[in-house]
Amino acid sequence: MVDQYVVGWILASLLGLAALCHLVAKRGRRGGEGRECVVETDCIVTTGKQCGSESANGNGSDVDVIIVGAGVAGAALAHTLGKDGRRVHVIERDLTEPDRIVGELLQPGGYLKLIELGLQDCVKEIDAQRVFGYALFKDGQNTRLSYPLEKFHSDVSGRSFHNGRFIQRMRQKAATLSNVKLEQGTVTSLIEEKGTIKGVQYKTKDGKELAAYAPLTIVCDGCFSNLRRSLCKPKVDIPSCFVGLVLEKCQLPYANHGHVILGDPSPILFYPISSTEVRCLVDVPGQKVPNIANGEMANYLKTVVAPQVPPEIHEAFVAAVDKGNIRTMPNRSMPAAPHPTPGALLMGDAFNMRHPLTGGGMTVALSDIVVLRDLLRPLRDLNDAPTLCKYLESFYTLRKPVASTINTLAGALYKVFSASPDPARKEMRQACFDYLSLGGVFSNGPVSLLSGLNPRPLSLVLHFFAVAIYGVGRLMLPFPSIKRMWIGARLISGASGIIFPIIKAEGVRQMFFPAMVPAYYRGPPAE
Ligand SMILES: Cc1cc2nc3c(=O)[nH]c(=O)nc-3n(C[C@H](O)[C@H](O)[C@H](O)COP(=O)(O)OP(=O)(O)OC[C@H]3O[C@@H](n4cnc5c(N)ncnc54)[C@H](O)[C@@H]3O)c2cc1C
Repeated sequence: MVDQYVVGWILASLLGLAALCHLVAKRGRRGGEGRECVVETDCIVTTGKQCGSESANGNGSDVDVIIVGAGVAGAALAHTLGKDGRRVHVIERDLTEPDRIVGELLQPGGYLKLIELGLQDCVKEIDAQRVFGYALFKDGQNTRLSYPLEKFHSDVSGRSFHNGRFIQRMRQKAATLSNVKLEQGTVTSLIEEKGTIKGVQYKTKDGKELAAYAPLTIVCDGCFSNLRRSLCKPKVDIPSCFVGLVLEKCQLPYANHGHVILGDPSPILFYPISSTEVRCLVDVPGQKVPNIANGEMANYLKTVVAPQVPPEIHEAFVAAVDKGNIRTMPNRSMPAAPHPTPGALLMGDAFNMRHPLTGGGMTVALSDIVVLRDLLRPLRDLNDAPTLCKYLESFYTLRKPVASTINTLAGALYKVFSASPDPARKEMRQACFDYLSLGGVFSNGPVSLLSGLNPRPLSLVLHFFAVAIYGVGRLMLPFPSIKRMWIGARLISGASGIIFPIIKAEGVRQMFFPAMVPAYYRGPPAE
């Protein structure tokens, strides 16, 4: 373990130094004139502003799986399990098309999972937009970070859309299967008998209180989950809120790209959600946002945010604020901390959440569904709840490489991308922007992690510390001073202080050494 740690440090240092050499060589080429427009294969840096029905009893249920909630996770899961021949009863509080500011950009890694699940047609006919990467903006500079899609089929890219349209398509697709029953109702509680979940109590659309039973209940009731309490230890953190607006009649500086403004106090996002609309999400740190009703919010958006918006979309941004359709949503993060419970499982945001800055939630949910589907496939009979529960413990480890990489990156990037008066944090933020702007391995690596195309925890830690080392190296150039060395030391300690607590919460062993977790090897119970 210690060896791996040392090797990790050496690799991160090498990567950081390589980034530094790249910088020095580039400065040499340009006669040290600072940052200016450089066009490389996949990166552009520009200076200047431009740029169930109720069953008779718990044992004789005619349903295999109850799914609570038909959002992204529940709807995709219902179709997946239904396609595998399970009799599925989905209970969803509201079957009309949701109108929300969440889940609008699906990373290419998530799109690959959608293909694995046979659900890729759900992003068709909803005016979804293809997304090929990100553009980062900071202090008048910008840089394009393309997804490394060269090795994939030409159809593979990110997709952005109206969340409600995507969900409706998945619900409709699930409902076409004769063994999937989609019912409108609100689940009020889980039915437990001697420590095993037997089903759910729910209220139908017309107010009837019913019970539904199945050998397995999968709770996908989203970020506000009321039902997760008995199935996990929810430690929810709310570092900030997103304020959502829709911009119309405007062209983003980089078509078909997500735009991240490294703003003050924290990031601002833009991405297309249809051929005519652009979603803007403004991050507001803390749990309180300016009041919308009394005009405080509009004032905040116009005076604090608008001056940081790229000139190409400034007018559309102000028009959206004036139009007044401003929505807010808390940004939650919650590590997965399940209480393995016979008869029940948590999925989606009810189970695990991360800061939405990197748009990773749907990718994690879809990736989890692929893992669960593969685990359940060899099992015909789900009735032996304690044995099934023991077997499904491997799910928590098998999902980790993808989930923990996306979760950790989201939490760490949010901290690095937020403004701070601390010179060490400022240096780290600038180093991160400049490191990504270098292109090649320095942008492809982190973008592969973020997009879910190659989510590997070790690669994440390497790039994170390479950024820190790159930042320190730059501080030492051309000559180190005591003050700069002090800032460098604080930069490394700050970087460690950002990433290590997130990794600890994710679980070091499960994240980096899943093969050392006994549950990893658990085979399906004999039937
Ligand atoms: C502001 C914001 C922006 C985001 N942007 C992105 C993004 O761009 N890309 C991305 O990948 N992720 C994004 N996410 C995260 C993403 O939205 C979630 O990870 C994803 O929606 C999780 O899906 P889910 O099915 O678990 O929850 P949901 O999609 O919220 O679905 C939960 C469902 O359960 C139903 N329900 C709730 N309670 C009950 C009950 N008691 N009985 C019956 N039904 C019930 C609800 O009606 C709902 O349909 C964002 C999150 C936030 C907060």
